Amino acid sequence: MTRIAFIGLGNMGSGMAANQAKAGRQVVAFDLSAEALARAKEQAMTPVSSAAEAVKDANVVITMLPAGSHVREVYMDAILPNAPKDAVLIDCSTIDVDSARTVARDASMQGFRAADAPVSGGTVAANGGTLTFMVGCREQDFADVEEALKPMAKAIIHAGDNGAGQAAKICNNMLLGISMIATSEAFALAESLGLDAQKFFDIASKASGQNWSLTSYCPWPGPVPAAPSNRDYEGGFAAAMMLKDLKLAQDAADTTGAPTPLGGAAEAIYTELVNAGFGGKDFSIVLQMLRGRL
Ligand code: NAD
Repeated sequence: MTRIAFIGLGNMGSGMAANQAKAGRQVVAFDLSAEALARAKEQAMTPVSSAAEAVKDANVVITMLPAGSHVREVYMDAILPNAPKDAVLIDCSTIDVDSARTVARDASMQGFRAADAPVSGGTVAANGGTLTFMVGCREQDFADVEEALKPMAKAIIHAGDNGAGQAAKICNNMLLGISMIATSEAFALAESLGLDAQKFFDIASKASGQNWSLTSYCPWPGPVPAAPSNRDYEGGFAAAMMLKDLKLAQDAADTTGAPTPLGGAAEAIYTELVNAGFGGKDFSIVLQMLRGRL
């Protein structure tokens, strides 16, 4: 019987943990929020009052926490001192590469198998069990990590050694942030030149400007009916979350010395958007800031 300790039952973690329970696994759950624990009980999980208690009989420990500081603290104070040594430890939060490598190193020094496995897909995929996981772990541990993640996943990709999952996540999201701004700038320029937005979309989506931000997540309302731009930029991927990931990318670039001039510009633009009070809106609302409509 797979016994899962799940720590962090927020917007993402609650649906992910529920999918583990639905798959018939025993889920012992902990969050600092009493409300989250009550919801876990309704979803066939066993809520407990501390992370230490959650992990004590687990063979898989999954964390889904806000940032690197939370992950380091929960690993040092609760997981490493209390989990059985044969447990697989998987952190699914989006955190800095350094923290991911630090907790994995400390875990493996104590005999645990550890992985970073950040996700792509947002709350809809978390609830639907269709997340994409980017996994950083030792080659020989991947099969067990993959088995543990299956009830929550559409795709599980081994990115490389510990930290590689987080590296893949922040590089992908830096590319996404830049491409959304670039797509929005192109729409704003097209408008200023008197070019119809739908005509621009029809042409660029079949020309060399084609990209995911344009054809799957169009910031201009209309051309892609399912995109958040058609719902006043509600739902989707919050601008504040995009800013968090862009900051992680810039911190990593500062550490390694990698040149990321457009990543830096994207961080500045999303900082302006969030400071203007639009952190809760979908990140494609950057188009309206560039058009001077906010
Ligand atoms: P959230 O703030 O909704 O949930 C985090 C949960 O962790 C909260 O319920 C909080 O009470 C709990 N928590 C904090 N410290 C804790 C501790 N010490 N012990 C136990 N519980 C603790 O955040 P979220 O949206 O679920 O995101 C979680 C992670 O997933 C973040 O790293 C985020 O960047 C990443 N992520 C989020 C999305 C998204 O669309 N929301 C998409 C991809 C990745």
